[in-house]
Amino acid sequence: MSGEKNVVGQTEKQETNVLGMMEAMGHEQVMHFNDKETGLKGIIAVHNTVLGPSLGGCRIWNYATESDALWDVLRLSRGMTFKSSISGINLGGGKAVIIGNHRAKHDEAFWRRFGKFVDSLNGKYITAEDVGTSPDIMSIVMQETKHVTGKPMSAGGTGDPSPHTAYGVFLGIKASVKESTGSDSLEGKKVAIQGLGHVGHSLAGLLVKAGAKVYGTDLNAANLEAAIKDFNITAVDPNEIYDLDVDIYSPCALGATLNSETIPKLKCSVIAGAANNQLADENLHGNMLKDKGILYAPDFLINAAGVINCYREVHSLSEQATQLIIENIYQRTLDIFKKAKLEKIPTQEAAIKLAVERIEKEKSKTK
Ligand code: NAD
Repeated sequence: MSGEKNVVGQTEKQETNVLGMMEAMGHEQVMHFNDKETGLKGIIAVHNTVLGPSLGGCRIWNYATESDALWDVLRLSRGMTFKSSISGINLGGGKAVIIGNHRAKHDEAFWRRFGKFVDSLNGKYITAEDVGTSPDIMSIVMQETKHVTGKPMSAGGTGDPSPHTAYGVFLGIKASVKESTGSDSLEGKKVAIQGLGHVGHSLAGLLVKAGAKVYGTDLNAANLEAAIKDFNITAVDPNEIYDLDVDIYSPCALGATLNSETIPKLKCSVIAGAANNQLADENLHGNMLKDKGILYAPDFLINAAGVINCYREVHSLSEQATQLIIENIYQRTLDIFKKAKLEKIPTQEAAIKLAVERIEKEKSKTK
């Protein structure tokens, strides 16, 4: 049978072992969806619902292959489980990816159909905005399902989570600087930001206000120009960002930018940014950073303010109560550094251990 084409024209060898991947990464459920009429196709992954319904954004991306989309949604949903757990909120981890052109404008029917697929999971997965989607899109999705957050303020939601995420990352940077220098002042500190989109732009503003010298790069010229215009940052070439002699490197673009090629180039003492799944290989690159003496603030720990804000919508929390959970990112980051030091393990490993411990504790209550 090997090499023979199956009904969808794939050879047996090319088939992806979805159940095997779910088993290895601990996923509860993975749903593929396809709608011929609107051209909507994608995957929803529910990683873990022990602490509550799974919540995570819906990303639309031009994935080269279906395997790339699957790998992305599995990794991102697992990260959401850790993010909510470590933040102390009662949500599980989930994510949706749509395979398509993220630059194209999709019509109402497309997004309503997505809402119907979300609704078919009966609340086990709650969606939100992510790369390629927006609060306005969520206001279309909400016509088909109540399991949606990150809605526009005019629709009773909390709007774009990015400024909250940026503030949480800012707190994570301050805690990291405190750990590495003894003071959390950012006055005169040099920070390199990769990606000046929704989060990177707001973060640049907070850093400049705190007295930091900000260097930034973006593949999108308009986003780079906006950061230069608004905050007078220094622009650098995308290929030069890893080589800069800075105190802090802040990845705010895509994942896996901390890898065997980039880590040897880095001259910073702290890495703290918003991008999800920054370490290409958690074990290998977490240890590589530790051995190099670079303090790494785990991404899911410091970029959690967006999901904390979505949690506010799910549980109708007050703004004050939500802000308190967000402000705690500073102390949680210091606690993780302490745990990592004590146990002589990479910070990412320490953060995952703590997140898993909370889930296991909750599980044991129901046994
Ligand atoms: P965004 O799409 O608005 O911005 C990303 C920016 O990175 C874009 O301007 C893009 O052009 C740029 N970029 C991509 N690749 C690049 C490269 N190689 N070099 C330089 N620039 C590059 O996304 P965002 O909402 O700002 O999110 C940024 C990251 O943070 C993403 O990884 C996202 O998953 C993560 N995150 C975002 C939130 C949130 O609230 N928006 C919450 C948690 C995590």
